[in-house]
Amino acid sequence: MSKVHPLARDAVKAIVPYASARSSMSGGAVWLNANENALAPAYQLDGTFNRYPSCQPKAVIDGYAAYAGLAAEQVLVSRGADEGIELLIRSFCEPKQDSITICPPTYGMYAISAESNQTSVNKVLLKNNERLDLPGIFATSPKLVFICSPNNPTGDLIPREDIIAVLEHFKDQALVVVDEAYIEFAPEASVVSLLSRYPHLVILRTLSKAFGLAGLRCGFTLAAPEIINALKKMIAPYPIAEPVAQIAAQALSPTGIAQMQQSVATINALRDDFITLAASLPGINKVWPSNANYVLLQVSDAAACVNALIAEDILIRNQSSQLGLSQVVRVSIGSPAEMQRLAGAMQRYFQPNQ
Ligand code: PMP
Repeated sequence: MSKVHPLARDAVKAIVPYASARSSMSGGAVWLNANENALAPAYQLDGTFNRYPSCQPKAVIDGYAAYAGLAAEQVLVSRGADEGIELLIRSFCEPKQDSITICPPTYGMYAISAESNQTSVNKVLLKNNERLDLPGIFATSPKLVFICSPNNPTGDLIPREDIIAVLEHFKDQALVVVDEAYIEFAPEASVVSLLSRYPHLVILRTLSKAFGLAGLRCGFTLAAPEIINALKKMIAPYPIAEPVAQIAAQALSPTGIAQMQQSVATINALRDDFITLAASLPGINKVWPSNANYVLLQVSDAAACVNALIAEDILIRNQSSQLGLSQVVRVSIGSPAEMQRLAGAMQRYFQPNQ
């Protein structure tokens, strides 16, 4: 890790930063390690940029509110869903006092953002990597509970009744944050309709995945206005650059949404074909049933598998360091041509004699 100035806060020195797929790049022509969308449309920018942008651009807020079926007051736009996670922790967790509860194996930024705010993390492992351990979660006293559905990296949907049980248990005590970064790949599983029943429910969304705009850095927090107002006090000025706002508004237009839905249909079909292939290969011990644009595989040697694919110019992600998992790799679904290349490389690695 790079050297940190001695005057930095102890909490900063202790942080192991997020290992971004794009900071640890080792070449590779086919990028299947960051759950991006290879089928993204192109967008055009318009105008000059000499003025400060709106802090919460109206076209983007109104566009997302219409897309999600909510009021504008229930929507915050931020620099990716990652900033939503950080704002929630900084706004609701008293440093050195409060905790959050997460359900590993899951997305890494909940713990990293908590640590940077000197907030402790209760880790309650998922049962069989798919169901919440409700008694385990109820034994914690957090300010925020993070539930990721579809879960990264397993691809599982967390059952609605489990989410409702957590919401019922933590009424008036904690916010329940459901991270729906990948929900467009399984839209029927969204809990957005529960916002009207549970004022302590928060939903995280993003344009990085199904909308194919990871490079834009644009995400959304959906919640009761009182929660959104708290986050607005903490957010840095002008989080959404004018070019980002222009492109996000185009993505959220009826044409943009239709394009997104078309690419989701293509990706889901490619994913199901890839699952069929992976399940047929000897040496792949387990294939998780995915509801997102990635598939988790258990292999006998994850590092060797990643390296064999790197040798073929294909990047996938080793997720073996995740709590509750061992020898697993996560493969993001790419374009049809990329998936064909991947299939050939996997067959050569797992079935070398055929
Ligand atoms: N939540 C989950 C589950 C994710 O996988 C990611 C991206 N890797 C994020 C949130 C953050 O998304 P964004 O690009 O909008 O910051």
